[in-house]
Amino acid sequence: MSTEIENKLIIISSPSGAGKTTLCKLLIKKMKNITLSISYTSRNKRLNETNGKDYYFVSKKKFENLKKKNFFIETATNFKNLYGSPIKNITLSKKYKKHVLFDIDWKGARKIRKKYKQNEIIDFFILPPSKSELKRRLVKRGRDNNKEINLRLSYAIDEMKHYNEYKYVLINEKVQNTVKEIKRIIEYHELIIAQKKFLKTKLKKIINS
Ligand code: 5GP
Repeated sequence: MSTEIENKLIIISSPSGAGKTTLCKLLIKKMKNITLSISYTSRNKRLNETNGKDYYFVSKKKFENLKKKNFFIETATNFKNLYGSPIKNITLSKKYKKHVLFDIDWKGARKIRKKYKQNEIIDFFILPPSKSELKRRLVKRGRDNNKEINLRLSYAIDEMKHYNEYKYVLINEKVQNTVKEIKRIIEYHELIIAQKKFLKTKLKKIINS
């Protein structure tokens, strides 16, 4: 019987504007056994963002230096900005026996899949209900200018083509429902882990009796 890895790497990817950031924040509020991996980025901080909470905002030079020192599990370039997930987030989550949640793109997800075992990863791709809804959400959040919105929209169409690389694909119509669905899937994986653990101890007893 294969051993299950208890602390999972949970990846949530989606095109910009599909509601992924809100979703991740709601999920960690609902599931206390998950920590969010805070990424580093060279992009400028937006008005509603906090350094150390949303991202660690660093210069391109600092980012490149960290990358050279193997500080990141994976890095990617989006909209001419650099993004990366620190390795220490995985080490810490294992130490504290928690799952770690990555809010990263498909490029980062691919790199993590190459470095970790398949049964260590639970990955989700979140789709917006439609292209027009995606545009509406990008405009509504009021973070980006028109040029930026159109750029993000065209990237979004390309990104969506990668949905089939993920174990779970969800359509984010109502964020509360999507969070519930993600929670249920994670709990299903936890149930399997618990069941296997239970069975292992039972089997030992049966064999040794
Ligand atoms: P935004 O600038 O809108 O916060 O993020 C742009 C894109 O970069 C999103 O798809 C987001 O998931 C992705 N992203 C954020 N952090 C990371 C990271 O550490 N690694 C990778 N590969 N992508 C990231």
